Amino acid sequence: MEHIKYEKYLTVKKKYDVIVCGGGVAGVAAAVSSAKNGLSTLLLEKSNILGGLGTLGLINLFVPMCNGRGKQIIFGLAEKWLRKSAELGWDTIPFEWKNGEPKEETKVRYIQRYSPTIFAYQLTEEITKSGADILFDCMAIDPVMEGNVCRGVITESKGGTEFYGCRILIDTTGDCDVLRRGGIPCENGENFFSFFTKMVDLESCKKAVEMGDIRYLYKDLSGGSINLFGDGQPDDIPRWSGLSAENVTDYIVRNHLLILEKLKNSDRKTRDIVTSPGMPQFRTTCHIRGDYSLKLSDAYRHFHDSICAINDFEHRDHLFEIPFRCLVRSDYPNIITAGRSADGTGYGWDLLRVIPPAILTGQAAGEAVSLALKTGKNIAELDIKALQNTLEKNDVMIHFPDEYIPEDRTVNIHGKNAAEIDGGHM
Ligand SMILES: Cc1cc2nc3c(=O)[nH]c(=O)nc-3n(C[C@H](O)[C@H](O)[C@H](O)COP(=O)(O)OP(=O)(O)OC[C@H]3O[C@@H](n4cnc5c(N)ncnc54)[C@H](O)[C@@H]3O)c2cc1C
Repeated sequence: MEHIKYEKYLTVKKKYDVIVCGGGVAGVAAAVSSAKNGLSTLLLEKSNILGGLGTLGLINLFVPMCNGRGKQIIFGLAEKWLRKSAELGWDTIPFEWKNGEPKEETKVRYIQRYSPTIFAYQLTEEITKSGADILFDCMAIDPVMEGNVCRGVITESKGGTEFYGCRILIDTTGDCDVLRRGGIPCENGENFFSFFTKMVDLESCKKAVEMGDIRYLYKDLSGGSINLFGDGQPDDIPRWSGLSAENVTDYIVRNHLLILEKLKNSDRKTRDIVTSPGMPQFRTTCHIRGDYSLKLSDAYRHFHDSICAINDFEHRDHLFEIPFRCLVRSDYPNIITAGRSADGTGYGWDLLRVIPPAILTGQAAGEAVSLALKTGKNIAELDIKALQNTLEKNDVMIHFPDEYIPEDRTVNIHGKNAAEIDGGHM
């Protein structure tokens, strides 16, 4: 640790093989996968709950994991966790998918809406069982870089400002915060007016009792309710970057005030808001400029370095693979990202950031760091076949079967074709 320039200013705590910054679904998948390979692994989470947007952010839905014709595309840890979330909390897995892939073709899609808090606690259990260390209420501030090599990360917590060393750093902050602060090239996005809380009212209480199912208790109450395409975004409301305190605060204040306005029209004795999102519901803030950027025009393309097959959650038949290069840069030997901050352009970014792919890129990152450290290779240069074999052994589908490719491959997303969409962000 003697080479660390910051040492004289900080408490140097401990050195790990791997540090994972951010305990959303991608970060937990990365930490669990790294730790199960015997690597000393530290997961840093700034809040006090795991799961990120998928729990704390109240986005409690695994988007479809099939091709819309009864064929499952997304497997691996994403499917394990979908099933896990239905073990102790609500189970909304469609009847057709209850016992795995249906025998008949069906348009019913493979989804699951879950209890965010129970799923978050299950993620805590996953981490503790994996052997990874975790620090809650601990913010990763800055990576310590020597040239393009990361030596560790500076943290801020009750203990003060501290330093943890690592051999490889995984940024799963969702916003690529740590890598961006380390000067690693990134691309910023923008965000629409979306803010959903969970509420209950007397009607939903009655329905839950009648149905004998607690999931009917909760309803969404929104501030802004703009979808990922930005439909209906008011002209006088900004598109937030989510990358400064002022910007995030403006988003939060506007939404709180709008919800209060809405509540004024209802009887205060009949309803309550039971949970407010504990983090901004921003879809696309910042991603790494990786060695490859996934685009809409990559539909139906097999990549030599695919780490998983994924499906479009909005459009039936539409299949993709995520190249490993979306997570890494060959000029940075020991950093990698996963989840929302993997490299995608326009709708390509939307496809890879949602919960099931975020889990799979996290899983791939955790396996990749292990291979890189065992073979002494730079992360971007590891043996991709070996990584794919490991992922396949862990139930990940690397390449989608060609027989799932439809005859008509016309791509039309929200009235736009691939060239229009790849040219700009949605
Ligand atoms: C409005 C909206 C609707 C959506 N709808 C769906 C949907 O229906 N289905 C679906 O599958 N997906 C949906 N998504 C997308 C999905 O929720 C996210 O893209 C996905 O959960 C991202 O996971 P992640 O782990 O990459 O990042 P995040 O969930 O953003 O997790 C990042 C974690 O890192 C922590 N963190 C951040 N900075 C630091 C730091 N410096 N130090 C320590 N910890 C840090 C955060 O607290 C958080 O826990 C939606 C997103 C939004 C915003």
